[in-house]
Amino acid sequence: MDFAISRRRMVEQHIKSRGVKDPLVLDAMLQVPRHLFVEQALADQAYGDYPLPIGQRQTISQPYMVAVMTEALQLKGGEKILEVGTGSGYQAAVLARIAGRVYSVERIPELARRARRILDQIGCTNVNVKVTDGTFGWEEQQPFDGIIVTAGAPSIPRSYLDQLGPGGRLVIPVGSLGSQVLMRVTKSGEGRFEEERLLDCRFVPLIGGNGWQNDGT
Ligand code: SAM
Repeated sequence: MDFAISRRRMVEQHIKSRGVKDPLVLDAMLQVPRHLFVEQALADQAYGDYPLPIGQRQTISQPYMVAVMTEALQLKGGEKILEVGTGSGYQAAVLARIAGRVYSVERIPELARRARRILDQIGCTNVNVKVTDGTFGWEEQQPFDGIIVTAGAPSIPRSYLDQLGPGGRLVIPVGSLGSQVLMRVTKSGEGRFEEERLLDCRFVPLIGGNGWQNDGT
C-alpha cells in the first residue's frame, strides 16, 4: 500500500473538499504518517475519515476533525501550544509541524508512552508529553498561544482561560457525554473572552478534577 498516495487522497477528499483551507494545516496533514499512529493491524484504514481505536477504550480522532481543530487555532507558525489528550500522538505531530513547541498531556500512562515512542520515531523533537490530569492545564508552561482539548468537557475549565496568553485561542468540545459542540474561545488583550460555536461533534470524555468524574459506563 502506498501511504503517501492514500494520505494525499485523504487531504483532497475528506479535508480540502469539506472546507479546510489553511495551507499550513493541509501541508502538515500531507506530511504526518497517520498509519504509524494506529495499531499495525489497522494501518490500511489509517487514511479513512473516521476515528480508530488505540487501546484503553480511547480513539485517534477522525482526520477531518483534526484538521478543523488545528485550523481553528489560527496558527501562523512558531506558537506555543498546549494539547490536552495526547492519545496516539497524531494531533500533537500535526501541531508540531506548524507550531514552535507543543506541550501535550495524557492521563493514561500507556498511551503517553506509546505516543512518545512514535513521536521519537518520526523525529518530532518539539513535543513534550506529560502524564497528568490535563483538566488543570500545564501551569508551569503557561501562557499558551493556543490550547486544544481533544476530549469532550462538561464545561470550559477556568484553568484553560487563565493559561491562555493575550490573543490566545482555546478549541474545545463542550457538552454532554454523548454529543458536544466544538467551541473556540479567544482571549482579547484586555482579558475579555469571545466564544464561537464551530460545529457539532462527538468525543470521548475529558475525565478529571475539572472534567467528568468517569466515562459514564
Ligand atoms: N489527540 C489524540 C490523537 O491525536 O490521537 C486523540 C485523543 S482521544 C480522542 C482523547 C484522549 O484524551 C484520550 O487519550 C484520553 O485518555 C485523554 N484524556 C481524557 N481525559 C484527560 C485528562 N483529564 N487529561 C489528559 N488526557 C485526558
